[in-house]
Amino acid sequence: MADSVAAILVAAGRGERAGHSTEGPKQYRTVGGRAVLAHALALFQSHPRIETIVLVIHADDRALCERALGPEAARVHLVTGGAERQLSVRRGLEFLRASGRPPGIVLIHDAVRPFVDHATIDRVIAAAIAHGGAVPAVAIADTIKRATSDLSVAETVPRSGLYGAQTPQGFHFEAIVGAHDAAAGSGRSDFTDDASIAEWAGTRVVLVEGAAGNVKLTTREDIAAADERLKEKLPVIDVRTGNGYDVHRLVPGDHVTLCGVRIAHDQALDGHSDADVGLHALTDALLATCGAGDIGDHFPPSDPQWRGAASHVFVEKAVEIVAAKGGRIMNADISLICEAPKIAPHREAMRQAIATMTGLTLDRVSVKATTNETIGFVGRREGIAAIATASVVYGEVK
Ligand code: MG
Repeated sequence: MADSVAAILVAAGRGERAGHSTEGPKQYRTVGGRAVLAHALALFQSHPRIETIVLVIHADDRALCERALGPEAARVHLVTGGAERQLSVRRGLEFLRASGRPPGIVLIHDAVRPFVDHATIDRVIAAAIAHGGAVPAVAIADTIKRATSDLSVAETVPRSGLYGAQTPQGFHFEAIVGAHDAAAGSGRSDFTDDASIAEWAGTRVVLVEGAAGNVKLTTREDIAAADERLKEKLPVIDVRTGNGYDVHRLVPGDHVTLCGVRIAHDQALDGHSDADVGLHALTDALLATCGAGDIGDHFPPSDPQWRGAASHVFVEKAVEIVAAKGGRIMNADISLICEAPKIAPHREAMRQAIATMTGLTLDRVSVKATTNETIGFVGRREGIAAIATASVVYGEVK
């Protein structure tokens, strides 16, 4: 098919400038959690136009390659390269020619460019179809100097019209095969990219817009920078924790209400509402997660409408305020501090009540109790205290 597209990824180099590594040549170095060439390969494998991928590797690297790619190695054609890049490309082209289904267009890419993007690949394919050869390129931004061997500047080269050539470079398959054959036939092996071979052979090559980020990893520093760039960015979750504390005085009476549960007792909690210290502490904890003040701000004791109020209304209002701010309550934990009554027999009813008023599942609701070892105002049965903690997620921080 005239417009069928194959890709050759060239990964046979030794990469000496990147320094020695136990992981092998730089195309096998791990950046962002996987091998450099695995990143590059994934971008070609996920491109909808590319039907066939040939990966040209060094004869010594087959085990390295299979380890780096895992099961993906079975989805590409592994071809052994030659001593120079030009020969490695030629081996890949010969593989495609011999495959019985040579493509219309071939893209040739350096596997040490892991940041290639689909838009660049699209531009190269379109221009290669239209013109015969296409190279992604970026205008040179630096002023260019030509220097002598002792680094004396010999001249400043006008940079207008100068571009840096990237890969993938795309060609009519027959044209680039013919160019490589001709170059080999005339003993030329000094070309630094495939476009220069095509140009030498008379194929028209046009430039298309490259991408500044489509860098070639050459040095140790390039690999470190690529690792930073490709590291998986874990989302930062906006989890907030609020706490609340409350105390009410015990007076003579016949019951207390704690965490929404009425418990017969020989004392009562004194307060404007039902004086449920557990739910008051929880209300404050919830309000605290979005800076919404405290229970006194929303339900002033001076307001007669809260006289004798059941305290679940305070929790429910705090739940509403949290929801309006985009919060999702994750858990609620309340500690009751009292000498009496005994909390344990009522604990499950308390958890159920809190689950109902907060919308939490039971496993996210905790009620605990402790005495104050008979010391202090709690120990003297003058009052009951409660501490509450709530966690609320307010979405993702970008
Ligand atoms: Mg209170």
